[in-house]
Amino acid sequence: MPGFNWWEGFQARFGVMHIQDFLSLEDFNQAANAMKNAHCNGVLNACVVNDFIPQDRLSESIRVFEKNGLKMVVMVVSFEGEKSVEKIGIPFPEYHVEENIEGGRSEWVNPLTGEVESVMWCPVRPERRGKLVEICRKLAELGVHGIMLDYIRYGGPGYCYCEYCRKEMLRDGISVEGLSLRDTVNPKNPVRQMITFWRAERITSIVREVRDEVKKINPGVPWRLHC
Ligand SMILES: [Zn+2]
Repeated sequence: MPGFNWWEGFQARFGVMHIQDFLSLEDFNQAANAMKNAHCNGVLNACVVNDFIPQDRLSESIRVFEKNGLKMVVMVVSFEGEKSVEKIGIPFPEYHVEENIEGGRSEWVNPLTGEVESVMWCPVRPERRGKLVEICRKLAELGVHGIMLDYIRYGGPGYCYCEYCRKEMLRDGISVEGLSLRDTVNPKNPVRQMITFWRAERITSIVREVRDEVKKINPGVPWRLHC
């Protein structure tokens, strides 16, 4: 039935913003007006990094944007963790960082400061997966119009070979014994080929889990993926 899902036939002209940058109701009203004047019909709100959901501001802003006929889709950074946002008061949770076969961690170090800015968390261990489901459930409860999962992936073909992942792979009949770092990035390596399918299933299953949870709360919330 047309019109049942708000996004059917909807041509998105979204502005992009980070709600955690805005402090007052007046700001939201101004932002909504600016969006309307720019002929936007919604906003992509990139406000969920790490575990942080700016709940009060998010609820407030959804109300203001809705009143102005604007949709709000929230972007959730799934398996990437930001350390740099500690400077603006967003805590960095200690989930397990991805490891390559030699134990190297999936971290990005800022060459100017020498400090770790961002990491990729292990997408297989239950800690971050569970949290991701919880975050999306909360967003659906807060009444967002849509959810976009960003960084819903591994840090690259060389990750993750942490102890937990190795155990899980072995349980599913994949032994990484003798696999070199070079093998892990070689698409022709037969073990790596098996791992690619295995990894794809780990990502597919978490997306399915998030979708099922969100649908339970509000079947009218669409969700999309971004790599
Ligand atoms: Zn792992």
